[in-house]
Amino acid sequence: MVTAMNDELSNRTSGDADGVDVAALREGIDTRFDAAVEQLKALVAIPGIAWDAFDPAELTRSAEAVAETARAAGLTDVQILRVDQDGVSGGPAVVARRAAAPGKPTVLLYAHHDVQPPGDAAEWASEPFTATHAGERLFGRGAADDKAGIMAHIGALEALDDVLGDDFGVGVTLFIEGEEEAGSPTFRQFLQTHRDLLAADVIVVADSSNWKVGVPALTTSLRGLVDGTIEVQVLDHAVHSGMFGGPVLDAPTLLSRLIATLHDENGSVAVEGLARSEDTAVDYPESDYRTDASVLDGVRLAGTGPLASRLWTQPALSIIGMDVPSVATSSNTLLPRARAKFSLRLAPGSDPAEAMEAVRSHVQRHAPFGARVTFTPGETGAAFATDTAEPAARHALWALEQAWSVNPVESGIGGSIPFIADLMDIYPRAQILVTGVEDPDSRAHSANESLHLGEFRKAMLAEALLLVRINSTGL
Ligand SMILES: [Zn+2]
Repeated sequence: MVTAMNDELSNRTSGDADGVDVAALREGIDTRFDAAVEQLKALVAIPGIAWDAFDPAELTRSAEAVAETARAAGLTDVQILRVDQDGVSGGPAVVARRAAAPGKPTVLLYAHHDVQPPGDAAEWASEPFTATHAGERLFGRGAADDKAGIMAHIGALEALDDVLGDDFGVGVTLFIEGEEEAGSPTFRQFLQTHRDLLAADVIVVADSSNWKVGVPALTTSLRGLVDGTIEVQVLDHAVHSGMFGGPVLDAPTLLSRLIATLHDENGSVAVEGLARSEDTAVDYPESDYRTDASVLDGVRLAGTGPLASRLWTQPALSIIGMDVPSVATSSNTLLPRARAKFSLRLAPGSDPAEAMEAVRSHVQRHAPFGARVTFTPGETGAAFATDTAEPAARHALWALEQAWSVNPVESGIGGSIPFIADLMDIYPRAQILVTGVEDPDSRAHSANESLHLGEFRKAMLAEALLLVRINSTGL
């Protein structure tokens, strides 16, 4: 289905394995795999959620379970660390190490152990925190995002230990964050505090998605993100809609009109001054997108240009929440104020601070009927692009091809991983690789989240192959 594999990629990945015994590693992973799945299931059973509304003791328990799993895998200096910021204690991260042999590089293996809340239990076909097999998939909150990332790292390291023993000299620092789903509030502070402990030549972030079942991907671009709230005020206080309605529009109506200006008639983002590019090497068929995103029949797609560019290299703006009375509590009242939260995905090339100003300026210029518009900026995260000419990226593409026996896609992800901007900033010389265990049907963050176990096995093998290739070939 992915038609635009480039020739350069096949040339650089189809060569010999440079002394890497792929078959032996495959066997090593196969030997370890069932145990790794059992460990994953044990991790899924712990509802560690880094949001204030949830029990922090579970998050601590989750970190302790990860630490124990790391210890059992032979990693040393296993620590549970957190930093305080603005009087608030961050989520518990697990850091564990394996020292580098002289002259060997060090790789930082990142994943996160905190998970999204389960959401509406009625939408789940199984218990969210009981890992449940169905067909080739393992269902449960965190089964994919991102406890499978943790076990891909650990399973790969155990297999390398089995197969190579002391011949594997690459230094490894396992870094399992405990607050990613809460937006990594203390991540930057954590990196600054533990800069030397986490320093590495290559950083592998196992928190992304493969292209589809059977086709791996290296995520080589990520959109940035800015979010914030837009509030519209029109009356000093609520008034009776029968007595006063007509000459003045209510706040939800005015807010809706303002929101409608954020896109043009094609559904492209209409905020001026944002970077956009239609250049992408991947052909993403519309039918795949419709299936993957569960778009209803008859709904027309928005935007212009190749579909992959609309997902990865053009901006996208969504309204992700609104403060208006619920239908159940509604009454015949002209509402004085309404508020919406927007989330704007930024293409590589857009500066987040400039983008935030562009939205602020847009909503203020488009205030409908002179309504008072209050703009409150929220979070920002920079976009990311991998230099695939760097050795680590070439090794990763090779490893993916070996593990799946098909060419990997150099994919973008429409989402952002804001902490990657922090990693880029604190470790400007490190080569950052964004890999994943998910596939489009993993439904991370939704009900019925799941992991495809066949893909998980390959992801684990690919990671082992990447590490052994770095071990044998260097950077
Ligand atoms: Zn994640």
